[in-house]
Amino acid sequence: MNGKLIIIVGPSGSGKSSVMHGLMRAHPEYIYPLSATTRAMREGEKDGDIYHFYTKEKFEEGIENGEFLEYAIVHQDNYYGLLKGPLMDSLENGETVVREVDIQGFDSIREAIPKENLVTIFITVPNKGELIDRIVSRAAISADELEKRKESMHREFNRAKDCDYMVENIHGELEKTIQKVADIIKSESE
Ligand code: 5GP
Repeated sequence: MNGKLIIIVGPSGSGKSSVMHGLMRAHPEYIYPLSATTRAMREGEKDGDIYHFYTKEKFEEGIENGEFLEYAIVHQDNYYGLLKGPLMDSLENGETVVREVDIQGFDSIREAIPKENLVTIFITVPNKGELIDRIVSRAAISADELEKRKESMHREFNRAKDCDYMVENIHGELEKTIQKVADIIKSESE
């Protein structure tokens, strides 16, 4: 296996999914593997873009059948899991594969993928206050969901030291952040 799996992690509100979207637009040459989730589809999302939307029963069947490289219950309520088959095929073929997961996924992937095939990038912001502002300012999130995201954020904020790289996503400088992440991926996949 000589491909590279690039895992993007970071606390809720750090902007890691915006970074992922930017990478997907600017670098179609990389592989962006799908995950499955039991959360509801949001406006503007399509099955098969980033997620397959599963029922709880289908997800649990997938666990039984070994469909996932890792899976976790995220924000205390929904299953998320990275689909194993196509991802492992891409790594076998020597490709560069990029995916964001939560910190539980990160811990499982570190156990499952050999060190030489894995690169981890932690996206963060200069301080926790900024994260709380960003989580609160998000549209379409219920009060309950907001509380759960804040709890995840506190748990995840201090995990940068466990990653290979850390990139600060400064407010208003998303494009620079995307470029920094892209530079890391390029240097790691050469
Ligand atoms: P969202 O529902 O906002 O798309 O994602 C919520 C959280 O789930 C984010 O922290 C995201 O990184 C995480 N996530 C997305 N896909 C996966 C996955 O396949 N596995 C794990 N463990 N977490 C995931």
